[in-house]
Amino acid sequence: MGDAVDAGRFGRMKVVLLGPPGAGKGTQGELLSRSLGVPAISTGEMLRGAVAAGSELGRKVSGIMALGNLVDDDTMAEVVEERLRQEEARQGFLLDGYPRTLPQAETLAGILARTGGELDSVLLVEVPEEELVRRALLRKRADDQEEVVRARLRVYREQTMPLIGYYTGLGLLCQVDGNRPIEEVTASLLALVGVEA
Ligand code: AMP
Repeated sequence: MGDAVDAGRFGRMKVVLLGPPGAGKGTQGELLSRSLGVPAISTGEMLRGAVAAGSELGRKVSGIMALGNLVDDDTMAEVVEERLRQEEARQGFLLDGYPRTLPQAETLAGILARTGGELDSVLLVEVPEEELVRRALLRKRADDQEEVVRARLRVYREQTMPLIGYYTGLGLLCQVDGNRPIEEVTASLLALVGVEA
């Protein structure tokens, strides 16, 4: 039986994937979204798409992304609200890369309150910093030069890590060791949301 059947049994889930850049959230997001039967929504992918398309949004964010900095919260609120309002995401989603700041977490809570839903779970994928630098340098994307990688990790520590306390306080946070083979990490994440791999 397909995994989506299981997901149906558990209901559509609203899940946030949290973790440092390079922890494998994108890969895990795609895998989990298939098992849970909900769309994987990556704000990084959306922004890269906008840059590639040369849209107004893309022109606004390309320099910021190239430096490893965060796009401002108001711009991100527009991007994410429009996406979450689409029919496909109304019943459930797996958010990868949003929220990244406390104001973004509050924006997300507001959007969910207005659309009549709430988060089921926030899954933190943890990987040691030196492993993240090593992985990023192997990937060699334009924004993956060592300096930019370090900048992205610093931004994560300073602006995103406070979300760990925020979501722990709400009783939503679960964490997994992301420094393991992909399929083991996926199985742990699925177990945390009550789905067998
Ligand atoms: P990612 O692929 O999630 O690492 O995102 C790539 C880049 O897009 C980040 O380094 C940021 O510049 C930008 N970005 C993605 N999501 C967000 C967000 N929620 N808030 C601010 N900037 C973001």
